[in-house]
Amino acid sequence: MKYKYLYGPVPSRRLGFSLGVDLVPFKTCSLDCVYCQLGRTTNLTIDRKEYSPTAEIIDELNQYLKSSPSLDFITFSGSGEPTLHSRLGEMIGLVKENYPQYKVAVLTNGTLFCRGEVREEVKRADLLVPSLDAVSEPVFKRLNGPHHGLNLEEIISGLIQLRSEFEGEIWLEVFIVPNLNDSETELQVLKEAIERINPDKVQLNTLDRPGAESWVVAARKERLEKIASYLPRAEVIAKFPSEKRTGAYSKDIEASIVSTLKRRPCTASDLSRILNLHPNEVNKYLHALLEEEKVKLEEGERGLFFRVG
Ligand code: SF4
Repeated sequence: MKYKYLYGPVPSRRLGFSLGVDLVPFKTCSLDCVYCQLGRTTNLTIDRKEYSPTAEIIDELNQYLKSSPSLDFITFSGSGEPTLHSRLGEMIGLVKENYPQYKVAVLTNGTLFCRGEVREEVKRADLLVPSLDAVSEPVFKRLNGPHHGLNLEEIISGLIQLRSEFEGEIWLEVFIVPNLNDSETELQVLKEAIERINPDKVQLNTLDRPGAESWVVAARKERLEKIASYLPRAEVIAKFPSEKRTGAYSKDIEASIVSTLKRRPCTASDLSRILNLHPNEVNKYLHALLEEEKVKLEEGERGLFFRVG
């Protein structure tokens, strides 16, 4: 069966072997971050609705999970902001009730937790990974391009409220963009906000694939490590763990490559690692896809990246 809303499973930096569930159409988001690996936000919104048909997503989940694949997490994330989907809670509930052997994570930009209904919907997840990159208004606007209906103080209060209600783990992700949110002043207010939010972990990330804006560059490892030593419970996110295989993994190599690249640009070696293919095999397909102009090539900090669209 070809899946429309499920992707992977992929080895992820944080979650091990994770099956992704994509709940909203491409770049439907409440933010328009300069570093977004999916490009510019095309639908900047804070309206919650059933962006993709819940019944179809549930069908795909049932279909995929009936073979009891080996997974570390089922992760609601994808190509936009998952908490914008108005029936997210129902889908988390379905997994927890019918497939209790799997842990559920939600990767989110954290902007909607100021709404009680959103906190209520995620409460059965095992892990929430919200983002908070900036605490001063000008940096937040420049870095995250928020929808005009969002208020930074309310977002931070929402995260504090979430911590007091949510029983699972919260790992707060901070994406560092040099010269934007790594000044002493910004880091100091960020530290104060983190202390108020009190997440289980703080994970520092930086660019490793092309972002929405070409001027955005990666922070150096030493700088990230220094910031990690300043912020409470912070760590620099590690590299991908080693791969595992599952019997449910797609055998359609070209489709797998295109589907991976639709979600984020990758180098040939990323694809080789993600799809568990020999690099020569990946290159053979990439050459064909380039010739047919189904993928594009561009230069990034780590070398040449392939992207779709
Ligand atoms: S990085 Fe996440 S929150 Fe930011 S624009 Fe992209 S999808 Fe939205």
